[in-house]
Amino acid sequence: MAAQAVPEARFGDALRAAAGELPPGLRTRFAPAATGYLHLGHVANALVVWGVARATAGSVVLRIEDHDRQRCRPEYEAALLDDLAALGFSPDEPPIDSFRTRTASAYRQRDNGAAYEAAVARLDAASLVYACDCSRTTFAAWSAAHGRAWSRPGCPGGCAGRSLRRGRAGLTLRLALGGGDEAWTDLVLGRQVGEPVGAQAGGDLPIRDRHGNWTYALCVVVDDMRHRIDLVIRGEDLLDATPAQVRLGRLLGRAEPPLFLHHPLIRRADGHKLSKADGATSVRELLAAGNTAALLRERAAGVIGLPEGWQ
Ligand code: GLU
Repeated sequence: MAAQAVPEARFGDALRAAAGELPPGLRTRFAPAATGYLHLGHVANALVVWGVARATAGSVVLRIEDHDRQRCRPEYEAALLDDLAALGFSPDEPPIDSFRTRTASAYRQRDNGAAYEAAVARLDAASLVYACDCSRTTFAAWSAAHGRAWSRPGCPGGCAGRSLRRGRAGLTLRLALGGGDEAWTDLVLGRQVGEPVGAQAGGDLPIRDRHGNWTYALCVVVDDMRHRIDLVIRGEDLLDATPAQVRLGRLLGRAEPPLFLHHPLIRRADGHKLSKADGATSVRELLAAGNTAALLRERAAGVIGLPEGWQ
């Protein structure tokens, strides 16, 4: 991956310049996973999302990414709605209270299985989907034997040619994205080139995991199409996922990929990105400890180097 992060010190200028060039009326989105409480990293992401939308007369779609039925919980969804409201972030679509009724929503992934099924049927018609029984251990064994990680299309077990029966428990569904790189231009990082592979292990893209969940990789592309998103703004930890998303969008009939803007992350002192497991930085706890919403916004804005006035 050719990606080079922009230092926080330069991010603000790059962001302001990028926003200045965008056409008005773009649709962007804030798409948290309901796997834990929002943390300062989400505040930073929300500031960029809402900031760009505000600066360009665009709109913000809120989407609950709860495709992982084992890890997501309704109480985390309720908490993230409360926290967003407390922080002063209000989506243009849908009305935030529409999530609170717990009736089905077009903006909550667990309610939209039919959309993912339909996408997979389309990919299936092109013979691009196969069941795979390779586990992390299979990939690790291949790496140990070859002295490098699997980094090609396919999978170490050659499952694309094995016609494993789909319904069997414990199988992953993979999508043969094909070889070759994808190139795209990030609004802040500039031209990017990368291989469209499944994030961690390499190999063809998992679209349904072995627990039967549609994966982030599939849902995010289907949803960005369904929700007519033309600007994706997110942390630079997802840069490597972008080539596969560009490729998948094309396979699903998207004429042009969305615009992408990846921003710096808030990191812990040891350099790791914040995660939902870092309770001490959850928005809930910080607010409960007496910090104001304005202070949290300021703190997040300061760490990633947002321009003056964007907090
Ligand atoms: N749901 C993802 C997350 O919370 C964000 C996905 C995206 O912005 O593409 O990390």
